[in-house]
Amino acid sequence: MRLHHLDCGTMCPFARRLIQGDGHLFETGTLVCHCLLIETDAHGLVLIDTGFGTADLADPARRLGPARHLLRWNQDPLGTAVARIRALGHRPEDVRHVVLTHLDLDHAGGLADFPKAKVHLLAAEHDAALRPQTAAERRRYRSAQWAHGPDWATYEPAGEAWKGFPAVRQLDGLPPELLLVPLTGHTRGHAGVAVAAADGTDAWTLHAGDAYFFHGRLAREPWAPAGIAAFERLAALDRGAMEANRERLRELRARDEGVHIFCAHDPVELAAAAARA
Ligand SMILES: [Zn+2]
Repeated sequence: MRLHHLDCGTMCPFARRLIQGDGHLFETGTLVCHCLLIETDAHGLVLIDTGFGTADLADPARRLGPARHLLRWNQDPLGTAVARIRALGHRPEDVRHVVLTHLDLDHAGGLADFPKAKVHLLAAEHDAALRPQTAAERRRYRSAQWAHGPDWATYEPAGEAWKGFPAVRQLDGLPPELLLVPLTGHTRGHAGVAVAAADGTDAWTLHAGDAYFFHGRLAREPWAPAGIAAFERLAALDRGAMEANRERLRELRARDEGVHIFCAHDPVELAAAAARA
């Protein structure tokens, strides 16, 4: 399996200093939508998260709602997953599977660009987005992003453990080298996606989605800029669960067991991941 690390939606929020911990307050910051494209031998292309999509470009007000004023996506047509996949020389139709960390608008926006793909996620996340139970859930999810009717495959969180985390070990139609790792807290059914190295070693790549937002969170002395810390709290459905999972990720990183962990929105982690790939 060959991995590509893609930014499928650059965002330019205000107050760089509060977002990235450097630069000035009056500069804009940079956040990315870090997606993974996996070339497999027998299962076509697999896309982990979809960032923003072409339909979001056409109608950002309806598709993204008021959150777009906070996130400030740059709306670059060449920055969508479908454009990035074409730029790599692949056909978007060959994306047969999409695996989602969750259904927030900056992760699900590109779903409609892959209408034939099977879309894998935790059942709790599917429920939260399609049958929201609270005002906060009704606000955060954008049903227009799945109005085309994706071919969902949903999973309960039970399964054989992986590195001390519960894990869904077998995804429908996908090889066992791909796992869904429940990391709830940010949303009801938020998950990471783990991908085993193709070389037979016990090395893994873990896309941790929005389990944390800044590389300093996994440092030995964890920290995050004030704006990021505030956003993490604001966007978390269950702060306690989110903090507990973040601590477990930090411990996993510290144990140095060959798991390459990154989150969805940190440009520093994306640059490092692209360099090592
Ligand atoms: Zn996000």
